[in-house]
Amino acid sequence: MTPEQAYQQLLQRAKEIAYLGTAQGVLGWDQEVNMPRNGAQWRAEMQSYLSGQLHRKATDPEINDLLAAVEESDLVANPLSDEAVNVREWRREYDRATKLPTEFVERFTRVVVLSQQVWAEARAKADFSIFAPNLGEIIELTKQKAEYLGYEDKPYDALLDGFEPGEKTENVKRVFTALREELAPFLQEIMASSTQPDPSIVEDRDYPVERQRILGEVASAGFGLNYESSRLDVSTHPFSTNLGPGDQRITTRFNPRNFNDSFFSILHETGHALYEQNLPAEHFGTPRGEAASLGIHESQSRTWENLVGRSRAFWAYFFPITRQFFPKTLADVSMEDFYFAVNAVKPGFIRVDADEVTYNLHIMLRFEIEQAIINEGLPVEEIPAMWNTLFKEYLGLDVPDDSKGVLQDVHWSHGMIGYFPTYALGNLYGAQFFAQAKADIPGLEEAFARGEFLPLLDWLRQHIHQHGMRYRAYDLVEVVTGEPLSHEPLMAHLRAKYGELYRL
Ligand code: ZN
Repeated sequence: MTPEQAYQQLLQRAKEIAYLGTAQGVLGWDQEVNMPRNGAQWRAEMQSYLSGQLHRKATDPEINDLLAAVEESDLVANPLSDEAVNVREWRREYDRATKLPTEFVERFTRVVVLSQQVWAEARAKADFSIFAPNLGEIIELTKQKAEYLGYEDKPYDALLDGFEPGEKTENVKRVFTALREELAPFLQEIMASSTQPDPSIVEDRDYPVERQRILGEVASAGFGLNYESSRLDVSTHPFSTNLGPGDQRITTRFNPRNFNDSFFSILHETGHALYEQNLPAEHFGTPRGEAASLGIHESQSRTWENLVGRSRAFWAYFFPITRQFFPKTLADVSMEDFYFAVNAVKPGFIRVDADEVTYNLHIMLRFEIEQAIINEGLPVEEIPAMWNTLFKEYLGLDVPDDSKGVLQDVHWSHGMIGYFPTYALGNLYGAQFFAQAKADIPGLEEAFARGEFLPLLDWLRQHIHQHGMRYRAYDLVEVVTGEPLSHEPLMAHLRAKYGELYRL
């Protein structure tokens, strides 16, 4: 077989895997949006069967032979060519999937499935001891997983690599530490300011749900989301999903008394969908047509949610429209009051409710704890104490109970240790890209005030979206901005914006 023939076979296999993967995506979307409760049992069986089929296809030993036939050939001589990028990533996926013994994967899946209800019960009762035995088992299996996968430096690297390919604990630590050293005192300054917003404007007034939905669609369409290729639905937890070329869906949830909840989750999911919508469609189902990493994905959602959607320029354009939708609710509210209200900074216990300034501190705390668990063998019963101590140190609050502390997130019960850092990496990448976009496009933010967002979308498409997985995230940021990832652009953004709002 020639390398070219082997490559064509790999492409064909990738397509079959993509058919199965997107079929699972449709089922998953339906489960969250439409499925009646009594359909759950059969749906779980279908999904688990399809997962098995997918796993079998992805670990077929013939893939190894096909990859070997291409890897030494001229076809991949240029490491940035489509072929080389695909082969590199297929090799990585194949090796990661086959390093884990099948019995191990099955055992891990069983433990995680059983842990879901236990975690939910522990959270409802705010009692960590209920979840501790399951978490202990998940941690032991996760450590074993890191050993199977292998690592150069720290076991945690093997886990991080599953979500942020090639990323190293040391590099994340470098950027997070630098950020925290500036962020913590800056937060103190904000809290001490005598100028404070009135968040009740957006958190405790009447916002009829149907109008919220239309306004959210207007904003996302304005950002460039193509509703011929998208739709907005309601689910318990907002998410976005890519079901194939021309089909990127987003969801939100509505609260008739809270504007922020649905509006900013729509902008967030729009950012994810815009990335998927602008990846090269001709490469769909291959790494060349996929997102670079979870961190880069999150950089896109945070860009549209925060750097655009929470900017003064955006609200200069969008507040008059918003007031037309809610004339009575906002009759006594000025654009400046509204802009300040959607940017209220307040340390709270729950990560998903956190503002732009405090959010990253929630992530750093989880990153510290995960390293202690995986690299230093922190015993499971000591996790809540470490959580509460760090929370006091980073956010200045005493955690009242475990449901507002260590039990709040679903990730660990799903066996996803190593995932959290990608959220903060997203904020950091987003700010660094955005600073570059502003330097490249004069008047970028002034254009937002006129409702013009296409210059930014075009820039993101050209510099980030079109590359797919061509570059690793940490290389992409250097290619695009000329610098390695740094805390400085994010910190400069926060200082400028919140320094002005809170008159520091
Ligand atoms: Zn996101």
